[in-house]
Amino acid sequence: MLTEIKRAAELIENSSYTTVLTGAGISAESGIPTFRGKDGLWNKYRPEELATPHAFRKNPSLVWEWYAWRMKLVFSREPNTAHFALAEMEKLGIVKKIITQNVDDLHERAGSKNVLHLHGKLRDIICSSSLCSYSTQNIDFIDSIPEKLPECPKCGSLLRPGVVWFGESLNPEVLTSAFGEAEKSDLILVVGTSAVVQPAASIPLITKRRGGKIIEINPNETPLSYESDLSIRNSAAILQEILLHLKK
Ligand code: NAD
Ligand code: ZN
Repeated sequence: MLTEIKRAAELIENSSYTTVLTGAGISAESGIPTFRGKDGLWNKYRPEELATPHAFRKNPSLVWEWYAWRMKLVFSREPNTAHFALAEMEKLGIVKKIITQNVDDLHERAGSKNVLHLHGKLRDIICSSSLCSYSTQNIDFIDSIPEKLPECPKCGSLLRPGVVWFGESLNPEVLTSAFGEAEKSDLILVVGTSAVVQPAASIPLITKRRGGKIIEINPNETPLSYESDLSIRNSAAILQEILLHLKK
């Protein structure tokens, strides 16, 4: 393991523009389950049955109940050593941008400033009408769910979580910015993502095609493992040890 940590530190030190792509695995040790993990109460539903516009139209109470549960869970958890190590790498000028698929706010709460949320944020609540642009971060309504669902003060439609659901397009500005970062990078760290959700999974390949390198940190093999210059089969917590090597 030590050789892998040293090798990662070496690749980072030799890079002039490092970005990071993170997925649900980086927040697993904060107690936020990944979609492929067990999440007790809700494991009889697949996320694909709850996180879709169709599910929201069919049963907004059920979808809101799941999100209220996730929001309470996420907001009660703390960033872990992996989030803090990345924030420290940003302060040291090593990490330029974090591109995350996560809807939690643990990168920000760990101190990272340059974070792109590809799939939106649980903190943002938006109007479900495509004709209305109302959004808020006020979640006072959460304790009234599912008895009373929040309504838009501008148009009266139901409010919904400001996250990207299955079957929806990503925010084009965020996506263009993420692709631009990947193009500029000569190194991308890919941490805790199963690398099966597109277009996020293709971001490291942009860096690779332009001659950059990929370091993957994941306890399990993923489709990206074959493209990686270094695969570290370990928890995201190993970032803390890589950081210690960088500071030496
Ligand atoms: P995923 O659930 O598909 O995969 C998680 C990956 O993390 C797996 O490859 C797993 O091997 C790895 N992993 C598990 N424990 C780890 C650890 N301790 N350290 C490092 N890696 C670990 O997650 P995904 O690839 O992010 O894609 C699924 C979608 O789920 C995303 O769109 C994301 O928005 C959403 N999601 C987000 C959160 C969150 O915001 N925290 C939680 C669950 C799901
Ligand atoms: Zn509205």
